[in-house]
Amino acid sequence: MDAVGFDSLTSFLDRRGCLRATVRLVEQCRREGRPLSALWLDLDRFRQVNESFGHLGGDAVIAKIAARLGTALAGRAEVSRMAGDEFVFLIPGCDRKHAEEIASDLLRAVAEPIEVGSIRIHPSGSVGVAVLDEQEDPLSFIERADHAMIEAKRLGGGRHVVSGDEQVPGRVGVLLAREELAIESQIHAALDCGGLTLHYQPIIGLDGRIEAAEALMRCHIHGESLPPAKIIPVAEKTGLIVRLGEWSMVTAAQHARRLRDQGFPTKLAVNVSRAQLTAPRFVEALYAAIYYADVAPELLELELTESLFMDISDVVQSNLAAAREAGVALAIDDFGTGYSCLANLKDIPATKLKLDRAFVRVLPEDRRALAVVRAMTQLGRELGMTIVAEGVETQAQHQALVDVGVDAVQGFLHARPMDGEALLGWLRGRQ
Ligand code: C2E
Ligand code: MG
Ligand code: MG
Repeated sequence: MDAVGFDSLTSFLDRRGCLRATVRLVEQCRREGRPLSALWLDLDRFRQVNESFGHLGGDAVIAKIAARLGTALAGRAEVSRMAGDEFVFLIPGCDRKHAEEIASDLLRAVAEPIEVGSIRIHPSGSVGVAVLDEQEDPLSFIERADHAMIEAKRLGGGRHVVSGDEQVPGRVGVLLAREELAIESQIHAALDCGGLTLHYQPIIGLDGRIEAAEALMRCHIHGESLPPAKIIPVAEKTGLIVRLGEWSMVTAAQHARRLRDQGFPTKLAVNVSRAQLTAPRFVEALYAAIYYADVAPELLELELTESLFMDISDVVQSNLAAAREAGVALAIDDFGTGYSCLANLKDIPATKLKLDRAFVRVLPEDRRALAVVRAMTQLGRELGMTIVAEGVETQAQHQALVDVGVDAVQGFLHARPMDGEALLGWLRGRQ
């Protein structure tokens, strides 16, 4: 790789510089009555390059592309490097038509093949274009370009999208992005200030024994409580789920130990997201949770959603195998709703199948749902699994499930999720 390319990287503005330049150019172009365009470029599938050639190799590729981009624009734009492979171009005097031409030039410049050692790679990029609106503030102007870039990626990359042309219009997209950002900052605050707790919902065997209790995350911050449905998707998108998941495992392991010490060796089931299982450090975190809590691994269970099994990578496979080897049980959560790949089901070392609430809700009237529940129960049974029905709210639903022959039930009819102290009381009450 040539040194010229590397030098080109240092000449760019950083994020802060980009914001300052945006504020300045927005003012200047408004004063002069000229248009202003922002182009946000992100290289497609760059992670692959980093994974194949290491980050230094990746940087060398970026430097080479950056040098080309500089040539393509020939001093017409202020250029910032927002992150590893993301660049923003601010172009004064540039209207939509002109901006689209420049976006095509940039994409052409990116797409020239690059030789790395003996391999020839064919890079591509995605560009989001925003043209400054009359009233808008500099930040949302830049955010619209970013959002349009994400849409270009969603459409498969190697193209540009102009803000406003997306399926979710730029403004709505920006508002959604802001809400996500607010949730992300609340998650950080909750992690730092103890705003997270686990509640536990008992899972009860039809023979009366306590099969397990499911640990469900609760987040209270600044007097507000955020349901998992809000937290988890944002945490997954931002990677925070890895920290949240580790916190859940540690907290549940400690509680399992506490229950055992009180004479209730109850298995606690922790929900695990796909993003956690694809992280190589998952196993270490799991082992650390077990070790520090000094709890038998048999008292922990991991609930995995079915969508995980659409494609099981080697990392996921080895993480699951390591969990099983350690003696931790695995359950398949929300079964029947996702992308059931029955072919994969046989390869997963799970011992429990949790039928989704969607099927239970319509029982017993819905005969077709009943038939599906019966078939899923049969399938699970043949694979040697324990069958749990989720979301049981009425006695009639409970009876239908008894008739079908599931092994255990979980739902508001039997017990709502409760805090750790209340669970202990509940267990004592059943003695
Ligand atoms: P899930 O794992 O399927 O958990 C069961 C959800 O159903 C819980 O919602 C529970 O409160 C609710 N539920 C239980 N019985 C009934 C019932 O009879 N009727 C109704 N209507 N609902 C019932 P919750 O606590 O809001 O959690 C929602 C989802 O968030 C969970 O679904 C799980 O996928 C995810 N989640 C919760 N905690 C965590 C966590 O620590 N980590 C991860 N990755 N995901 C979590
Ligand atoms: Mg669950
Ligand atoms: Mg579930």
